[in-house]
Amino acid sequence: MRPEDVRRVAMFSVHTSPLEQPGTGDAGGMNVYVAEVAKQLASRDHEVEIFTRATSAALPPSAELVPGVTVHHVPAGPFEGLAKNDLPGQLCAFSAEVMRAGAARPEGWFDLVHSHYWLSGLSGWLAADRWQVPLVHSMHTMALVKNASLAEGDTPEPYGRELGEAQVVAAADRLIANTSDEATALVELYGAGPHQVDVVPPGVDLDVFGPGADPTAAQQRDRAALGLPAAARVLLFVGRIQPLKAPDLLVRAAREILDRHPDWQQPGQLVLAVVGGPSGTGLEHPESLAQLTTGLGLADQVRFVPPAARGELARWYRAADLVAVPSYNESFGLVAVEALASGTPVVAAAVGGLPTAVGSAGVLVPSHAVADWADALERLLLDPLRREVLSRRAVRHAAGFSWAATTDRLLEVYAAASRRHHPAGNVHNRAPNAVTWPPSHDISARASGYSTSGGGPAWPRLAE
Ligand code: UDP
Repeated sequence: MRPEDVRRVAMFSVHTSPLEQPGTGDAGGMNVYVAEVAKQLASRDHEVEIFTRATSAALPPSAELVPGVTVHHVPAGPFEGLAKNDLPGQLCAFSAEVMRAGAARPEGWFDLVHSHYWLSGLSGWLAADRWQVPLVHSMHTMALVKNASLAEGDTPEPYGRELGEAQVVAAADRLIANTSDEATALVELYGAGPHQVDVVPPGVDLDVFGPGADPTAAQQRDRAALGLPAAARVLLFVGRIQPLKAPDLLVRAAREILDRHPDWQQPGQLVLAVVGGPSGTGLEHPESLAQLTTGLGLADQVRFVPPAARGELARWYRAADLVAVPSYNESFGLVAVEALASGTPVVAAAVGGLPTAVGSAGVLVPSHAVADWADALERLLLDPLRREVLSRRAVRHAAGFSWAATTDRLLEVYAAASRRHHPAGNVHNRAPNAVTWPPSHDISARASGYSTSGGGPAWPRLAE
């Protein structure tokens, strides 16, 4: 086998399983990403084994996602009741189990490790070392980036995560960034080598998310199916309910729009649908969005919908006049592209990967001021012609994203990683994991404007 012939991929998704319903708790875009890429790899005769922490005694040790893709539920710590922030303490147990699973296979079984999120990166690093294969890592989100743009009052990501991410960056053969913005953050904030990072845009399932042959008829049909008034102005939020995603901003903007148009207050005139469940720091006050809604007198206008499976979600996107993505940060924003693929214009915050995801097919709002959001949404609600133009542009723009294209690019990265990992028969050339103190520059302060060095140790500069 040539080094670049990567056939068996071990994927690490420690904190959340691709079998979980996205849109609540720890399950979101990364779960969709891992599942879709794994399916694509299997359709090209690759074997994918996904290692994720077992979160219930009822789970089988392994389950087949599709032929060629196996999800292993790795026992590590108590099944239930662990928060994501508790998981660093379980990484040793998790990795030990994965090592055992690897030892039960013939030598040289896996060709490559692809880890997702920093927790997986730490475990994948060990596995790649043991199996002497390349480590390809996708961050999905980064603490330094998140901490630099927190919602007011939101809790920052811990220093241990920032440090762990920097160590994974140093250990990985290749880093996958969703956008060039993310690549820049990896280089400038985490000290990644510019040639270590590959930009690979995520995809969208164009078979599931589409406008329908007759978009107007499809919208009416879907509204009827979802119990939405046929003539209402429908705003849609899809995603995990937490301060980072700013659904509260939309509720406040809806209030302002209704204050500007008191006649829209009548039943069936304006609906804001919020599809998803609580997550992250949103779990600390899961009732707060509903309380805000009631407090602002919007109980009749705002509809809360539990996390929806793909088919139902496609209906919601088509049923809406506008999909809003007001997040404080998104490494990409799959929801935006899914909405565009469905022919629904998107109003998104101009942060992170959203300008790439939305392109010129939507409207970007440069702030998180309620008045700016009310302006942007109101303007489009009053302008059906503009919405139609954006809708056509949206479908064209989204057609440029597909999981097949994502996987093509990933396979190129896998091949390059594999080639570089076996230079002249020298199988193992991973950088040492020693850290050098003190740091040559304080990357955390540069990233976020807040300093972690005040009470804690200086940032370690990782050995090249
Ligand atoms: N999602 C879903 N059902 C829901 C809400 C969200 O399947 O009720 C999916 C959505 O389709 C998207 C993903 O969750 O694919 C969210 O990804 P995104 O990149 O927008 O945000 P993330 O969760 O990664 O922060």
